[in-house]
Amino acid sequence: AILLGIETSCDETAAALVVREQSGRGIIRSNVVRSQFEEHAPFGGVVPELAARAHVEWLDHIVAQALAEAGISLEEVDAIAATAGPGLIGGVLVGLTTAKALAASLGKPLLAVNHLEGHALTARLTDGIEFPYLMLLVSGGHSQFVLVRGVGEYERWGGTIDDALGEAFDKVAKLLSLGTPGGPAVERMALAGDPRRFRFPRPLLREERLDFSFSGLKTAVRLQAEALAPLSEADVADIAAGFQAAVTDIVAVRSGQALDRFASELPGVVPQLVIAGGVAANRAIAAALAEVAKIAGARLVVPPIGLCTDNGAMIAWAGAERFALGAVDRLDVEARPRWPLDAPDMRIARDAA
Ligand code: ATP
Ligand code: MG
Ligand code: FE
Repeated sequence: AILLGIETSCDETAAALVVREQSGRGIIRSNVVRSQFEEHAPFGGVVPELAARAHVEWLDHIVAQALAEAGISLEEVDAIAATAGPGLIGGVLVGLTTAKALAASLGKPLLAVNHLEGHALTARLTDGIEFPYLMLLVSGGHSQFVLVRGVGEYERWGGTIDDALGEAFDKVAKLLSLGTPGGPAVERMALAGDPRRFRFPRPLLREERLDFSFSGLKTAVRLQAEALAPLSEADVADIAAGFQAAVTDIVAVRSGQALDRFASELPGVVPQLVIAGGVAANRAIAAALAEVAKIAGARLVVPPIGLCTDNGAMIAWAGAERFALGAVDRLDVEARPRWPLDAPDMRIARDAA
């Protein structure tokens, strides 16, 4: 089937055309993403109202470009998928309403996709990975471990109790005046710094639970920066390096524990760990995860970074996987600001298939 996918839940306006072959193999025919850097840069964070307006302004063009690049006409599309949540509700409404209008006018089925399911299933599109596997989602809005048993079948094993990891990178970048987006800026500075000069806390690490907490760490970084102010270039680099070393430790230790749990709950199954979300671009964290996976005898899958961050292909693909199982959504389906992956309505009614 040929799916058009639309993503507007945060600060990227995105559309893609993805083909899912009978065999289950996926092919990305186009994947157009417009990030709203300029709109939000003056505010040091995403402004929901501005995001929604930019989606309204750009989405039609992005969809047209995705169709043109794929060489596929709207009539040839088999179903329309759009993010229906979770996310900034104004933006979600823009994408979902556009998808409804297209579905209604073309007489094609609509798939209302959970954005997190898009992240969760991407590794099947890029690497053809089989269920079950563990996903570590680390982005600007989410940090969680999810056991992916099948399409619509998710178990949340833990997650952040305060800030997301990408958010922590962004906040540290802001207090070190490194600009946006914060993650890459902190990573660049950290390369020049000494990670041992400051030993920042590793919250929750001694506890036996698969949760994260990054807000105390962020406060420790702020207090250190204030104590040293005015900061020299070396101070900034050392703080960035110390922060990155702390979060790398946290993510590595937790992922090791999560893989241990995988081994004990799914004996005889080769453990697989999939990374999703923009923080996957961080080389220190990726290297640490590779090490952890090796020790656990696990397969590690890191999709290309353009498919780890928000994009339309992951929404088209999640829609295609659901569509293949007979799932379709009604045109009056609601947009949802919150929608956990383990919500009961994620499951596909098997009699629909
Ligand atoms: P959502 O959480 O809804 O998926 P998002 O747009 O906030 O949306 P992504 O687009 O997946 O998330 O990723 C952006 C986040 O990833 C930002 O917080 C950014 O700082 C972080 N990030 C990007 N590159 C790096 C890097 N090299 N190191 C650390 N963090 C990074
Ligand atoms: Mg984003
Ligand atoms: Fe996302």
